[in-house]
Amino acid sequence: MEQVYFDHAATTPPRPEVIEAMLPSLRERWGNPSSIHATGVRALEEVERARERVAALLGCLPDEIVFTGSGTEADNHALVGACAAAKPGKDHIVTSQIEHHAILHTAQILEARGVQVTYLGVDAAGMVDPDEVRKAITDRTVMVSIMHANNEIGTIQPIAEIARVCRERGVLFHTDAVQAVGHVPIDVHRRQIDLLSLSAHKLYGPKGVGALFVRKGVRIASFITGGGQELGRRASTENVPGIVGLGEAAKLAREETDSAAGHDRGLRDALIQGVLSRTPEVALTGHPTQRLPNNASFCVKGVEGESLLLNLDLVGFAVSSGSACTSGAMDPSHVLLALGLPPEIARGSLRVSVGRDNTRDQVEQFLEVFPSIVRRLRAMSPASVASEVTPGCQ
Ligand code: PLP
Repeated sequence: MEQVYFDHAATTPPRPEVIEAMLPSLRERWGNPSSIHATGVRALEEVERARERVAALLGCLPDEIVFTGSGTEADNHALVGACAAAKPGKDHIVTSQIEHHAILHTAQILEARGVQVTYLGVDAAGMVDPDEVRKAITDRTVMVSIMHANNEIGTIQPIAEIARVCRERGVLFHTDAVQAVGHVPIDVHRRQIDLLSLSAHKLYGPKGVGALFVRKGVRIASFITGGGQELGRRASTENVPGIVGLGEAAKLAREETDSAAGHDRGLRDALIQGVLSRTPEVALTGHPTQRLPNNASFCVKGVEGESLLLNLDLVGFAVSSGSACTSGAMDPSHVLLALGLPPEIARGSLRVSVGRDNTRDQVEQFLEVFPSIVRRLRAMSPASVASEVTPGCQ
């Protein structure tokens, strides 16, 4: 059975053009970009072309792009690098409770090193309030890091307002845009963003490569030390095929972000409307309108998200759940808890994330099987026995 892939927020299939573009740097242009002979220079040219393409996608200069090993590394680099380069007396960062663990776990490590961290709450739709950002900034604040769009619920943050607040207060603004780049238009200079993380595998590129935008003039310490690659900002011989793949994905994304978003939005809205109208006691999570075009996420009362995921997998649909199985119990996602959802509701989370190859027919097929799977799981679930109406998920 051919699986219908509805998990593009986890990763996207590399586009054929991306794979084609990568092959020469594995077969012929495999040199070390630091070598000054012709073989090295050819590899360097590939890297620099990719840098120009990523810069064009973000609206910045090529030398404001640092290639990294992943979105996670870009996030780590932004936080750790900015704190390491901060002036004496600057030892506070502001972030949100719904960030990806690439930010949250890094913030915790910084806390253990003496940095103070403010974790801002969000409203029921997952929005950070720019006024709360303003209030949280102190004379000691180095940076604010708020994600562009949430990976579980798709909520898009008021990035321009938050960036403006940071600029007014003279603190750095970093955004984890791993889920947003290639899906919504981004212009880092127009939006006054100082640092931005992205990851190739979320925009139809290869895994294991990302980038950090560092605005010219921003002081940030190198995160991986060693050689002088990436203008001394990130040591290690470049992942040339990966970088080339990211460059090609960025080029395609620049040409197609609007049309791809239109396609995804149509499928997303059909999914949301279909799920909510055909299945009782299911609620949309995240913001009703300010959300990623490809993200439809729900909480389904009376079922475990993981059971739902496995049952959908059995009938040929790849989706995802925000809850993670740790030590035999389902841990509700920190994002859903931050929205104020009770744990028993948050455990029933489901994320359906569409992409360029999905069709309306696939959405219809999903909508045909979904209500009966939910009914069956509810009938089997002990939670259904003690069912009571819970605010926020009806
Ligand atoms: N940040 C967000 C919002 C993400 O969704 C992810 C991946 O899921 C990451 C960071 C980490 O990116 P990578 O998988 O490239 O390390």
